[in-house]
Amino acid sequence: MKLHEYQAKQLFGRFGIPVPVGVMITTAAGAPAAAAKIGTAKVVVKAQVLVGGRGKAGGVKLAAPDQVEAVASQILGMDIKGLTVKKVLIDPAIDIKEEYYVSFTLDRASKRHVLIASAAGGVDIEEVHATTPEKIAQYIIDPLVGLRDYHIRQVLKDGGFPAAIHGQTASIIKQLYLLFLSCDCNLAEINPLVVTGAGDVIAADAKIDIDENALFRQSELAAMADPDEETPNEAKAKAAGLTFIELDGSIGCVVNGAGLAMATMDMVNHFGGKAANFLDIGGSSNPQKVTAAMEVLVANPEIKSILFNIFGGITRCDDVARGLVTALKQAPTTLPLVIRLTGTNEAEGREILKEAGLTAVSSMVDAVKEAIRSAGEPVLAGR
Ligand code: GDP
Ligand code: MN
Repeated sequence: MKLHEYQAKQLFGRFGIPVPVGVMITTAAGAPAAAAKIGTAKVVVKAQVLVGGRGKAGGVKLAAPDQVEAVASQILGMDIKGLTVKKVLIDPAIDIKEEYYVSFTLDRASKRHVLIASAAGGVDIEEVHATTPEKIAQYIIDPLVGLRDYHIRQVLKDGGFPAAIHGQTASIIKQLYLLFLSCDCNLAEINPLVVTGAGDVIAADAKIDIDENALFRQSELAAMADPDEETPNEAKAKAAGLTFIELDGSIGCVVNGAGLAMATMDMVNHFGGKAANFLDIGGSSNPQKVTAAMEVLVANPEIKSILFNIFGGITRCDDVARGLVTALKQAPTTLPLVIRLTGTNEAEGREILKEAGLTAVSSMVDAVKEAIRSAGEPVLAGR
């Protein structure tokens, strides 16, 4: 679960990380009062949407107090990567001299936390990562040793931070790690961490992503969730009780059970395909869920084929088949459909599909290969 910048900055403030203290507003009419409260000669108006690259999209603009209303009304309502801006943060403008990058996240390969830092911070960090990765330093934290001062010093040196800011930056990094741990974060990122004209080091931006599995013990953070920020597809899936995560592949997957859904994605990957989503319709027999699943999938233009992988245990194959036939009537699709159906009430399920002109296979391997082929991609021998 991602926090907005204004929320993340409040959290930073609580952990003693220096941040500009601003005001979040939802209407341009509130902008002059916000700027007056801040009281600086210039402010920066920042779109609050849960995607990166707001600066490049025109969602971050400096303004004098007499222009702030016009600038805010320009940014409110703007579309940034498919999300409509409904909130803006008015911050005191910073006199930025240098921009750095600092973050903590999970390194999945080593299953440990990692500190990442670079003197090449700012809006082009992704390009730096792609073209000159040596400019980005990292330290994978040994959980038994923890993060020590000498680890931080090494990262700052490797990342090209000038000695003059090592002290201030190291204490920000320590506080950021405390925050990262105590808020159960997947990511805590400062980009840019800036040096001001006066030589102060402060966080000009703040990005926090919280592990949703930890929200049960982070009730205060859970309450910060912004329902406006879900993509329409995610909101729809959630409302229908589906566990749904959009990915960037071409094969839409509809599976019953999280374990089988993971295994299906692994197998798609094994044979050289790419899944477009994780979708668990759950273990219950509910035709409405299948309909919702179909509607969510056909709304994604990247999907080239749909793979149904149903193992009937508690879920009954005839219910899923009925749901599928109903769904195809409500949300007809021209996409190739590959169905694997096996288990409880399999024969009845196949009969229902047959009446609707559909067929199902029983082998998962055959179904996965067929789904990859019908997405127009080569089936690899398996890796
Ligand atoms: P992002 O593009 O979504 O990551 O948004 P950021 O908050 O990082 O802002 C993008 C860029 O806007 C930063 O890298 C800065 O160069 C610039 N910027 C943001 N706030 C200020 C500010 O207060 N003063 C100045 N001069 N530039 C700013
Ligand atoms: Mn940023």
